[in-house]
Amino acid sequence: INTTRLDRFISEHYQINRKSVRLILAQKRVYVDGKLARDIDQLVDQFSVIVMDDKTLQSNQAHYIMLHKPIGVVCATKDDKHTTVIDLLAEKYGQELVNSLHIVGRLDLNTSGLVLLTNDSRWSERLTSPEYKVNKRYQVTLAKPITPDYIGAFAQGMYFAYEDIVTQPAVLKIISPLQAEVTLTEGRYHQIKRMFGRFQNQVVMLHRFAIGQLVLDQTLSLSESRSLTAHEVSSIT
Ligand code: URA
Repeated sequence: INTTRLDRFISEHYQINRKSVRLILAQKRVYVDGKLARDIDQLVDQFSVIVMDDKTLQSNQAHYIMLHKPIGVVCATKDDKHTTVIDLLAEKYGQELVNSLHIVGRLDLNTSGLVLLTNDSRWSERLTSPEYKVNKRYQVTLAKPITPDYIGAFAQGMYFAYEDIVTQPAVLKIISPLQAEVTLTEGRYHQIKRMFGRFQNQVVMLHRFAIGQLVLDQTLSLSESRSLTAHEVSSIT
């Protein structure tokens, strides 16, 4: 069982510094397992119930869901124009439960495929944190034929001026002139579209079929979801 300090947990959860967390604890805003938490070095684990300002940051029951996201559904909790992934799950799992979930690695509005949702932030961090370099695998359909010189460019990494970063080595496998399989270990904004954009080639279809060892269940139709099996959950750690 992973234990971590309470101040670290909160600081990572909200991306705030430890000093701010100390203040929050001093303001008596945090409860662990129903008891007021005052000590920054209190240890918590994945079974600790952590509540801050009446919001449950971690409940002792972990939920892990895979969803087959269709095109046109947005990876957000609220949206005025589009159905959200949360809307898709609410009917099956209940609004309260789905409100406690977060999305593990978003997909664009016009991308389909595997989306994971959980309330276990340590588990999701293993999937999204750059240190772990978990593979995200995509099927891509292009507007123009792919040429072999793409392979080296994807492997070498591309400079993204906006973020001022070079992309991590990506694997491009040519399936047919207009189809490729791309493996990324990170998820930059519109990353795949931008990478093909360097070749003036437009992505016309994008589908994520796997994250690490987790493969989208082929029996799930568009918009369908299911809980992960214990085996699938532990395949991540
Ligand atoms: N790359 C993109 O451009 N979009 C996605 O949704 C995922 C990866």
